[in-house]
Amino acid sequence: MPSVRNKFRPGDFSLRVAKSATGRGLYTDTAIPKGACIIEYKGRPCTEKEQYENKGKYLFWTSDTTMIDGNIPGNIAKFINHACKPNCEIDIHKRRIYIFAKRAIRAGEELNFDYDTEYFEMHIRPIGCKCASCVKKKYTYTVASTATAFLLRLCKAIMKRLSLHPSGSFALDLLVFE
Ligand SMILES: [Zn+2]
Repeated sequence: MPSVRNKFRPGDFSLRVAKSATGRGLYTDTAIPKGACIIEYKGRPCTEKEQYENKGKYLFWTSDTTMIDGNIPGNIAKFINHACKPNCEIDIHKRRIYIFAKRAIRAGEELNFDYDTEYFEMHIRPIGCKCASCVKKKYTYTVASTATAFLLRLCKAIMKRLSLHPSGSFALDLLVFE
């Protein structure tokens, strides 16, 4: 086990900001082993007023009573996007925020972590989550509903062809589910 001091020391990984599904994201050009400390999420301390208003997109609680604003030059960790099934996670140590590899990360992968619920509800849910697992879910749902609609049309066409006149939904239900 590494000592606590070493645990919270970011490794020497080659990270880069590049275009992503949601604008910009942070990518790694080197493979990162599971559990590695990747980068510190730096920021400037927020004033009480800023904490109370809790408005910025890059705000982060560092304790029950302290908050930082990560929207400063040099904090490339602010480009890390949200994902519902992320490859990174955060850990707070002495009121400083660090990003860790939740699993082994391949070179070329975009880094992401699960933003807290408060942030998700405020900034992501209103526009819809664009993380890989949500996009996939949405796609699967679209394909499934398109297939269902097609089957319904097919059933109706067959019934018409056979000159069946369903008096109600009962006949249609039988055709769909049998
Ligand atoms: Zn998502």
